[in-house]
Amino acid sequence: MTYANPQLFINGQWCDAADGKTIPVFNPATGLEIGRLAHASVADLDRALEAAQKGFDVWRNTPAVERSKILRKAANILRERTDAIASLMTQENGKPLAEAKGEIGMAVEVTEWFSEESRRVYGRIVPSRNLANQQQVLKEPVGPVAAFTPWNFPINQIVRKMGAALATGCSIIVKAPEETPASPAELIRAFADAGVPAGVIGLVYGNPAEISSYLIAHPIIRKITFTGSTPVGKQLAALAGQHMKRATMELGGHAPVIVAEDADVELAVKAAGAAKFRNAGQVCISPTRFLVHESIRNQFAEALVRYTESLKVGNGLENGITMGPLANTRRLAAMAGFMEDAVAKGAKVATGGERIGTVGNFFAPTVLTDVPRDARIFNEEPFGPVASIQSFNTLEEAIAESNRLPFGLASYAYTRSLKNAHLIAQKIEVGMLWINQPAVAWPEMPFGGVKDSGYGSEGGTEALEAYINTKSVAIFCG
Ligand code: NAD
Repeated sequence: MTYANPQLFINGQWCDAADGKTIPVFNPATGLEIGRLAHASVADLDRALEAAQKGFDVWRNTPAVERSKILRKAANILRERTDAIASLMTQENGKPLAEAKGEIGMAVEVTEWFSEESRRVYGRIVPSRNLANQQQVLKEPVGPVAAFTPWNFPINQIVRKMGAALATGCSIIVKAPEETPASPAELIRAFADAGVPAGVIGLVYGNPAEISSYLIAHPIIRKITFTGSTPVGKQLAALAGQHMKRATMELGGHAPVIVAEDADVELAVKAAGAAKFRNAGQVCISPTRFLVHESIRNQFAEALVRYTESLKVGNGLENGITMGPLANTRRLAAMAGFMEDAVAKGAKVATGGERIGTVGNFFAPTVLTDVPRDARIFNEEPFGPVASIQSFNTLEEAIAESNRLPFGLASYAYTRSLKNAHLIAQKIEVGMLWINQPAVAWPEMPFGGVKDSGYGSEGGTEALEAYINTKSVAIFCG
């Protein structure tokens, strides 16, 4: 699909910004400008807010079964358009075409799941102490939602929020990522084409800080949902608190991978290696701290290097490419900084470690060994294609290292022992743990973190609870 200039979507209409302002969009594989994006002003936001209020009034009064049918239709449309949308995503984000298609496939799954769940947002009747009294627990949509989403999964970061909001009867204004705007626009087009009424979904782009401070403070908005870095999440959570708005925060992580003495090393390398370099490591649940038992340290490192060197880096639109460029030049600079610091502190570069070429944001898939605990890359979220390895002697030591950081999003473990698996499951301070397998964020399972990685969940039935108010009603009919 040819890259078109993405527009705003307000009150069921695609439109340019009221003041005509646009900003450029670049292809990270070529560095070339591929389009101009409409940049919303306050006048556009006001129109989006007014539409969201009207859309909420319509959508909350639409029977759940009708909402469910529209969501299912949206999933079908999205499935039909997968190839065309994937091509746009690869052009703007850089990820290989197969990964872009996989992301859209998961968005279809997420939408189908929310379509099904939307019919099951049940309240309850609670037996009363007085038989003439009826006690009801009503579940009501929270109201118009403001969602702020990042560029690493241009569609999936939106669909989890939009699916939950629409399933529960909320309207939503999405502030989608300015760096990867066309694929989100196509996601929303699929929902609009499926029959979501005007105003229920709004789509804006612009200055993230200006838009978030305006929308969060606005009385029409009743809930905030954000995916992005911990520092920005803390700012937005504080703003939400100041205005007493419900909030879900899906923030950064620094996922440990514990490879125990009794691990299946081949499985660990294959599963964790693939997870590490997916989306060039720009994934909040990406494995980042490989903690490997001393007895298998060399065997694991050598196998991971072999795996890493088998990756084919290039333009994600080309056949056979397994890792694309970094999504923006900020990540290139961040990777260079992490490398310099780690090497100065004694880490060894087993493979990679450098930018590839000078055109596009390509960075070599990298393995660092003997990474000291005080290296920045072992403390700050790397968000890039670097696997850092450190060894341990006892499982307790590995668990303590896993829990040392303020992050608590995802973690992984490889062990053949049920006892080890239970110990890790009980002691590790994270929202998500995968043992002997790579991460797959199925819609039916909760997705979210603890500690500085945020709060709330974007999967499982918990995902819907985040968009629901509970009303306690007692009716005396004596
Ligand atoms: P950043 O912190 O500037 O931005 C992260 C995201 O938040 C972007 O999508 C940005 O548009 C948005 N954002 C920034 N300020 C905002 C504001 N005031 N209001 C609303 N949205 C705002 O960093 P970046 O350079 O884009 O990404 C780098 C870091 O962000 C990474 O190191 C990673 O830690 C984090 N990140 C996390 C995820 C995730 O899936 N959790 C995704 C993307 C980025």
